[in-house]
Amino acid sequence: IDYWREIHKRAGYQEISTPIILSRALWERSGHWDHYKDNMYTTLIDGEDFSIKPMNCPGGMLVYKTQPHSYRDLPLRMGELGLVHRHELSGTLHGLMRVRCFTQDDAHIFCTPEQLDDEIQGCLDLVKSVFETIGMRDYRVRISLRDPASDKYVGSEENWEKSEAAIRKAARSLGVEFSEEIGEAAFYGPKIDFVVKDVIGREWQLGTVQVDYNLPERFDLSYIGADNKPHRPIMIHRA
Ligand code: ZN
Repeated sequence: IDYWREIHKRAGYQEISTPIILSRALWERSGHWDHYKDNMYTTLIDGEDFSIKPMNCPGGMLVYKTQPHSYRDLPLRMGELGLVHRHELSGTLHGLMRVRCFTQDDAHIFCTPEQLDDEIQGCLDLVKSVFETIGMRDYRVRISLRDPASDKYVGSEENWEKSEAAIRKAARSLGVEFSEEIGEAAFYGPKIDFVVKDVIGREWQLGTVQVDYNLPERFDLSYIGADNKPHRPIMIHRA
């Protein structure tokens, strides 16, 4: 934790801590209630549904929304040692690799479209430095891009082109093997996954950096631009 705090402080993050129990309305807004409910532990408080968080993202949105933002505040980098619970099926539990409760080194970065390049690069530099510090040198990178023939994606054509180019450039800068998987991006944005090998050669996805055009929309996030008008920030998940 001391190491985590030190490197995040150096990289310009602020540390946040979001509630473990959050209301059903919030999970409906984030989309988790519709798509992830089976993996969520729920509880009834004063006759209303609440859920123990399986992910830290919606809490991060709430922190952003606690105050108005100007383009001068961005990028905002919020890091969290987030305790999450997931109701994984008992048959899928696996040693320390898949468990029902864990603390996630998680972060959400809010930025302008112009800042996206640098922010993605910053995330990758951070992952690289952590991997090197703990001696994990044998890893590869997988980038997931959109399928140009599909129309399931949110966010403008222009934004996707920019973010895919930024991801490709940042991935290349690591100097490790990387592959591009067309059509593997989530509907909300392209991503980079770090894949490491265990002692018997099995591959595991470890870190992930994802661009998200959806949650800022769902939570109606905004900042006031240099033109004095409201704009939608882009968010990066980095776990
Ligand atoms: Zn997230």
